[in-house]
Amino acid sequence: MVDLTSLNPAQYQAVAQSDGPLLVLAGAGSGKTRVITFRIAKLISEGIRASQILALSFTNKAAGEMQERVAHMIGPAARDCTLSTFHALGVKFLREEASHVGLTPNFTILDEGDQRDAVRLGLVKMGFDPSRYEPKKIHGRISDYKGRIEVPDRRIDAIAHHIYPLYQARLRALNAVDFDDLITLPVRALESSNPDTFALREKWGRRFRYIMVDEYQDTNGAQLRFVKGLVKGHGNVCVVGDDDQSIYAFRGAVAGNILHFDQHFPGAKMIPLTQNYRSTNNVLRAANAVIGNNIERHAKTLWSENGDGPLLRYKQSETEEDEAHWIATDLLGLRHRERLNWSDCAILYRTNAQARSLEQAIRGADIPYQIIGGTRFFDRKEVRDVVAYLRVISNPFDETAYRRIINYPSRGIGDTSIQRMADYAAAESIPFWRVVESPKLVEGLTPKVRTTAKQFAASMDAFRTRFAQADHGEDYADVCRDLIRHFGFADALVRVHKGDPRQVRKRIDNVEEMASALANWKAKNPEKSMTDYLSGLSLDTRKDQSGKADEDQMSLMTLHGSKGLEFQAVYLAGWEEGFLPHQRVLDGHEPVDEERRLAYVGITRAKKFLALTGAKKRLKFGRVQRRRVSRFLQEIPEELVEGGYAGTGRERSEDEKKAHAKSGFGAMLSMLGDD
Ligand code: ATP
Ligand code: MG
Repeated sequence: MVDLTSLNPAQYQAVAQSDGPLLVLAGAGSGKTRVITFRIAKLISEGIRASQILALSFTNKAAGEMQERVAHMIGPAARDCTLSTFHALGVKFLREEASHVGLTPNFTILDEGDQRDAVRLGLVKMGFDPSRYEPKKIHGRISDYKGRIEVPDRRIDAIAHHIYPLYQARLRALNAVDFDDLITLPVRALESSNPDTFALREKWGRRFRYIMVDEYQDTNGAQLRFVKGLVKGHGNVCVVGDDDQSIYAFRGAVAGNILHFDQHFPGAKMIPLTQNYRSTNNVLRAANAVIGNNIERHAKTLWSENGDGPLLRYKQSETEEDEAHWIATDLLGLRHRERLNWSDCAILYRTNAQARSLEQAIRGADIPYQIIGGTRFFDRKEVRDVVAYLRVISNPFDETAYRRIINYPSRGIGDTSIQRMADYAAAESIPFWRVVESPKLVEGLTPKVRTTAKQFAASMDAFRTRFAQADHGEDYADVCRDLIRHFGFADALVRVHKGDPRQVRKRIDNVEEMASALANWKAKNPEKSMTDYLSGLSLDTRKDQSGKADEDQMSLMTLHGSKGLEFQAVYLAGWEEGFLPHQRVLDGHEPVDEERRLAYVGITRAKKFLALTGAKKRLKFGRVQRRRVSRFLQEIPEELVEGGYAGTGRERSEDEKKAHAKSGFGAMLSMLGDD
């Protein structure tokens, strides 16, 4: 039996009530995620099969931590629970039910670049100029509609309305899906009244008997319907969340999902949790002070029994390099003094662009670290090239990937020839890979191009066979190594980066790292196939997969990526207007509330040590930019900050001026003044 004595009464109630819809709406660090893990453990201890339990969260990191916590409580049975992100569940669903949604099970998940390419193609087809209508923006709008499971309305968004069907058709032709499809396609299947899908609905309706959702405040319309579809048979759904931490409205998250939970799931109970177990009171006072400035919210005040703890610190540096350097140096001292592990420490920032200087300083100080999310390893060109090879091997219909590699490394098939083959494929409605395999009917190709194309297709086929064999024995590492050698990646890099051996070395390292990452993964997951690996890659934008997970490392990540996590020591970088709040707010495009919630999420990640930093100036596009301190800093009372704000660009409020005048040094100065 699981020991429930460490729960407080409200938490206990939330754990004990396993049947029917339940909402836990509570502030940061109050034990919401802990309620979910205890519920899982309790259900299993009562004899519910682990395979019937589903818990959803938003990031792989959060899902992974949940898995660890549950495993800690109940041991290996935790492996049989489905603890995943919404998107990973969508992948699982679609791989099993591919035929019902017009896919084959080895479909590709397009990354953002590919999704944009599909939009661009649609624009060109419709005769629109892609440089005038930014594909990224139009994709964003299409994605908003898909997030609500709607099609773009002609009167509201004519362009998106026209592009949408072309975009969808393109995806289907590639045997591919985008991120939104991972939710919307299962929802359509689950909601369909088509008799063919009856068995599917029955199966999925019965599959999970208990469903839990963490960070529920960030669900969008489609995700709500996904949950509804899975819960329909029994109504056993427990969601936990905090409206003050809703930070994905810009991606279509709907506050109403949590605030009107009982309308979506009639008969729902609501349990609030009030005590915070994570942080010291100084951290919580700062958090309360900031979030208190948001008007539309379910008001709650965080408190804990963890004592006051140390004061916060605020450091304003001259430049971004100085800021990063200060953090790195301070970290070294703090870790030593407080005997922390590196994994107890994190630096959080608003935008990925801030990571570069921070990363550099951390490296310089020889601190072991991991960057979670953001542009890193898997976004580098040479790595994406290798991945494109793997994608074509896994799914030959993946034309985007195929076109990326058919002449990379260069083998003399020029852009015009590629275009001719693509046009021929489109005109004849046959897949691109078939044309490459047998290009004899395509007009205007030289005999040499024809032969090269055929040979290339044959080589790809051969590797497809070898990987399939490797699924049952041969070492992936060997196949990967041969692939890189066979297609001449190293030579290509030498050619491109002539005269820069360091660049060449770095990139070859990355290519090899990529191959070995796949091989290592396969060694750990012998029962899985390359298709699974590629799915993981497209979803796992948060985790550097190059291994080394057991090393003691500190973490760098964006505020968005930090949701649900906690650290002894947190450095919040870039407390400047333009970062917090983001420039979009200064430009008047977005309301400030969501940025304030982000600041709140950041502050509440800290258990004990919290430092806020910023720079007076930054270099942007080669020009020096003066920066003003964040308005949110203005909202954190001076008495919570070690040494106050003296000497920084932050102005004192009237109250603070009075308090300062009354206190020690200020009082002395005013006495001298009186003299
Ligand atoms: P967030 O809103 O940031 O996701 P949360 O509400 O999910 O926070 P948890 O992460 O579940 O909060 O809990 C915060 C911390 O408090 C964890 O370290 C957890 O183990 C601890 N905690 C929660 N409840 C208790 C309790 N009753 N006794 C001891 N520790 C607790
Ligand atoms: Mg949580």
